[in-house]
Formats: sequence, structure tokens, C-alpha cells
Amino acid sequence: MKIYLDAGHGGEDSGAIGNGLQEKEVALDLALRVRRMLRDYPQVLVKLSRTTDATKSLRVRTNEANSWGANLFLSLHCNAFNGRARGYEDFIYNKLPAGSVTRNYQTILHEKVLRAIGIPNRGKKQANFHVLRESNMPAILTENGFIDHPEDAKLMKQAAWREKVAAAHVEGLVEIFNLKSSSSSKEGYQLIAGSFAKKANATARQALLTSKQIPATVKEVSITGKKLYRVIAGTYPSRTAAESEQRRILQMGIETFILQNS
Ligand SMILES: [Zn+2]
Repeated sequence: MKIYLDAGHGGEDSGAIGNGLQEKEVALDLALRVRRMLRDYPQVLVKLSRTTDATKSLRVRTNEANSWGANLFLSLHCNAFNGRARGYEDFIYNKLPAGSVTRNYQTILHEKVLRAIGIPNRGKKQANFHVLRESNMPAILTENGFIDHPEDAKLMKQAAWREKVAAAHVEGLVEIFNLKSSSSSKEGYQLIAGSFAKKANATARQALLTSKQIPATVKEVSITGKKLYRVIAGTYPSRTAAESEQRRILQMGIETFILQNS
């Protein structure tokens, strides 16, 4: 099962801009999160249209997905209009025959993302976009809020929101393709990014991680009778997923260890 994950725009093409944000950055961030989460589904292969701020034409993207033989082309974007429009919408190709599986996929994905994204529903739409038309496989394009709307943009700036939106896309894919996670749902692997006697130190560590797009929480724990504030840089359904995030955090100079919940 192959998913071509298209982070919209990139490089010279910033996409929409507004409120200090560029669409190309939000799209790439979402795509990288979706890829990370899909690592828990061993039957899924993911190819990203870009993993960096690279310029890449729409034609190259669809050619790549077609020659790779992707089962789904999923394109991630944000919208812009006049600064007053807001909300979530998604698109499929406007000339699909009735009963096309793409419509079912859209319905599933739409419900999942809408439930998580916390902004108004603009509906399931159809359009004659290049990536929808020129891809040989079912293709869906999601517009995850309006970058030029202050409320939507405020959410886009929050790593926790982007994590939630990415997770909702994954939930949609899980349902569409009946994906099975490699790990049991009861288990979890926490990344511990420090334990501090002073709460302020833990909160500072948490803020540092969050500023680097890593969702972190602080939990009060008692270790041999001593109260400590533990910084948890996410809970991951598999050790592999935790390890990959661990490497990313290490690049920031923060060492972590993995704690398995049971
Ligand atoms: Zn776009």
C-alpha cells in the first residue's frame, strides 16, 4: 500500500501567505507529521513530494506518484482568500464518475479531519486541479484552514493543532485502507526529555520543545519519595516511532529516554 503525500508548494512557491505564515511551511510540517505517524503501519509505504523547502512542479509530482504506482495521492494545503473567509474544505477531481471510490475516501477523510480541526466546515468539494486531474490514482486535496484569517492562522501556529490535524488525516487513512498498527493500542512509549525538581525548569524545557514543533507535557511524578517534574515529549504507539522522534530531539542537544507504559 503506497501513499504519495504531497506537501503543497515549496521553494520559490510559498503558496498562500498571511499572519506571518507561509503555506509551504505549514503544508510541509503537516506532511512530515503524517509520515511520522504512518511509520506505525508497516503495510504502508510513504513517498513525500518534498521533505525540505524545495521547488517542485505539479507535473513532476503527479508523474512521480504515477510511476511509483501510488494507491492514493494526498495533497496538503492551506487556503487564503480575503482575510475573512475561514474553515476546512477538501477537494476531489470534478469529473469523477458517480460511485467512484474517491468520493467515499473523501467522505471518510472529511469527517475525521473536520472533527479534529476545530474550524468551520466548508464542505466536500470538487475541482479541476492539476494534482487531482493528472494523478492516475484516487486523489484528495485538503485545505486546512485559511492562512490569512486571524483565528485559523492562530491555530496553524500551534504545534499541538498541527499534530491533531495530521493525526486526523492518519485516522482517515486508517479507515480508508483498513490499516493495522504494528503496536497494541494499550501500550505506549513515552519520550522522557528530563526530570526537574523545579517546575519552572520543566516548563522551560517544555517551551523549548514546543517551539521546535515537538508536543511536550509536564507531569508531576514521585521517584523514591521525591517530587519531580517530568517532561514528556510525546507518547508513541511503537518503539520505532519513539526512536525516530528521539533522534530528532537529540539534534536539538536534548537527550531523552524511552519509557514503556503498560
Ligand atoms: Zn495551496
